[in-house]
Amino acid sequence: MPVPSIKDLSLKGKKVLVRCDFNVPLEGAKITDTSRIDASLDTIRYILGQGAAAVLCSHLGRPTERTPELSLKPVAEYLSQVLAAKVALAPDCIGDITLRFINDLPMGHALLLENLRFHREEEANDRDFAHELARGKQVYVNDAFGTAHRAHASTVGVVRFLSEHAAGFLMMRELQALNALTVNPEHPYVAILGGAKVSDKIGVLKNLLTRVDAILIGGAMAYTFLKAQGVAVGKSRVEEDKLELAREVLALASSRNVRVILPCDHAFADAPEAGAVAQTGAFIPDDKMGLDIGPETVRQFVAELAGARTVVWNGPLGFFELPAFAVGTLAVGESLANSGATSVLGGGDTSAAVAGHDWSKRFTHISTGGGATLEFLEGRELPGVKALER
Ligand code: AMP
Repeated sequence: MPVPSIKDLSLKGKKVLVRCDFNVPLEGAKITDTSRIDASLDTIRYILGQGAAAVLCSHLGRPTERTPELSLKPVAEYLSQVLAAKVALAPDCIGDITLRFINDLPMGHALLLENLRFHREEEANDRDFAHELARGKQVYVNDAFGTAHRAHASTVGVVRFLSEHAAGFLMMRELQALNALTVNPEHPYVAILGGAKVSDKIGVLKNLLTRVDAILIGGAMAYTFLKAQGVAVGKSRVEEDKLELAREVLALASSRNVRVILPCDHAFADAPEAGAVAQTGAFIPDDKMGLDIGPETVRQFVAELAGARTVVWNGPLGFFELPAFAVGTLAVGESLANSGATSVLGGGDTSAAVAGHDWSKRFTHISTGGGATLEFLEGRELPGVKALER
């Protein structure tokens, strides 16, 4: 891999700027899901263990100026707990006061800088801001895979001012798992695509068509494909303006000998509402909405996966937020996790759908990236990764 790893760096006695993805969900000052922070702990602990000091930075939310509710204070508190050592929060990410915090930081300790997006220069990839971010540090480590598709000051601009730089462990794990999908993947190679919209996944679909042997399509996007083929889909969610595109994708797949497997039966109801009762069948009545793949489709998908050696999965196969319509996603997920194939899941909804089930630990990799994973699967270069290349 052309990207240097944190293991290639000599860190002892240095101040290391670490770009993390601490963009966690908050309810007031309470972090409701710490998994993004937990995923960076390996990298932070390694830096501290090498006798270096970690200066952590991240964005949180989408502010364009100082917004107290989007302070990283709860993250500093959580880090202090899990690292069992005080992680102070600097009042800003740049400036003289922050520099004093950095200069005073002893080796073996971590400091968190305040939300990068309190400055609009971060997203603008402003050169002077990037230069400021580099002040007082000697090394740069990027562990924020989730923002690698953005060319911001902390993911791209800063690299030119810190010539010693590398990817952290989380970034390396993500790149290794995703590269395994593009560099000599074992065949049969199957893609599972679901989720809300064809339009969000069209780039991914087109790129995967050049690589995979079969594509299994579920979720709401399946109904646009089915309607494009003249199948009645009742009140299911359809992108009327994407019917032609769906036909083009199906034609392209057939010209490339890629099998596209669409649902042959469904779980449907009046609407995706709490208490909705799922009925199943091959035909969706005019007044019902398809909200999950049906049992026969599950059997077909599972049979397809049984022979696969590599599987990439993006997007839930039904309205998984309601347990009545999570059945297909969970059945396919469990069978994939147990299949022995290299299995890579991407997208926040897909991982949320399988989270908490014991078998979900058996997937080869669950990507922490949403947009970044999608762009990778579209075959696009990620600026934050490119910036790290040797
Ligand atoms: P995405 O962000 O594109 O991966 O889409 C995920 C969303 O698609 C989730 O909120 C699902 O509830 C929704 N979804 C999946 N299947 C269906 C369906 N059959 N009808 C409506 N929404 C669906």
